[in-house]
Amino acid sequence: MDEARIKVSIRCRLCGEKFVLRGRRDGGRVDTGFKMCLCNNTDDFEIEEMPV
Ligand SMILES: [Zn+2]
Repeated sequence: MDEARIKVSIRCRLCGEKFVLRGRRDGGRVDTGFKMCLCNNTDDFEIEEMPV
Protein backbone atom coordinates (compact mmCIF):
# COMPACT_ATOMS: atom_id res chain seq x y z
CA MET A 1 0.00 0.00 0.00
CA ASP A 2 1.49 3.28 -1.04
CA GLU A 3 -1.29 5.78 -0.71
CA ALA A 4 -0.26 9.38 -0.53
CA ARG A 5 -2.46 11.30 1.83
CA ILE A 6 -3.25 14.77 0.66
CA LYS A 7 -5.51 17.66 1.35
CA VAL A 8 -7.69 18.77 -1.46
CA SER A 9 -9.13 22.22 -1.84
CA ILE A 10 -12.25 22.25 -3.95
CA ARG A 11 -13.91 25.42 -5.15
CA CYS A 12 -17.25 25.39 -6.86
CA ARG A 13 -17.21 27.36 -10.09
CA LEU A 14 -20.93 27.96 -9.93
CA CYS A 15 -21.44 29.39 -6.47
CA GLY A 16 -17.89 29.90 -5.20
CA GLU A 17 -18.25 27.70 -2.14
CA LYS A 18 -14.99 26.22 -0.91
CA PHE A 19 -14.38 22.86 0.66
CA VAL A 20 -11.19 21.45 2.10
CA LEU A 21 -11.14 17.70 2.31
CA ARG A 22 -8.76 14.96 3.15
CA GLY A 23 -8.15 12.65 0.30
CA ARG A 24 -5.71 10.21 -1.09
CA ARG A 25 -4.02 9.83 -4.38
CA ASP A 26 -4.96 6.58 -5.95
CA GLY A 27 -3.00 5.76 -9.07
CA GLY A 28 -3.10 9.19 -10.67
CA ARG A 29 -6.57 10.21 -9.61
CA VAL A 30 -7.58 11.80 -6.39
CA ASP A 31 -10.19 10.22 -4.19
CA THR A 32 -11.89 12.49 -1.68
CA GLY A 33 -15.37 11.08 -1.51
CA PHE A 34 -16.67 14.50 -2.48
CA LYS A 35 -19.96 14.17 -4.33
CA MET A 36 -21.54 17.53 -4.91
CA CYS A 37 -21.68 21.12 -3.86
CA LEU A 38 -24.46 22.67 -1.81
CA CYS A 39 -25.79 24.13 -5.06
CA ASN A 40 -26.12 20.66 -6.64
CA ASN A 41 -23.15 21.18 -8.91
CA THR A 42 -21.43 17.84 -9.36
CA ASP A 43 -18.69 18.40 -11.90
CA ASP A 44 -17.62 22.00 -12.34
CA PHE A 45 -14.91 22.57 -9.75
CA GLU A 46 -11.44 23.94 -9.37
CA ILE A 47 -9.45 21.34 -7.55
CA GLU A 48 -6.13 22.00 -5.90
CA GLU A 49 -4.01 19.46 -4.09
CA MET A 50 -1.95 20.34 -1.07
CA PRO A 51 0.51 18.20 0.82
CA VAL A 52 -0.63 17.34 4.33
ZN1 LIG B 1 -21.71 25.37 -5.65
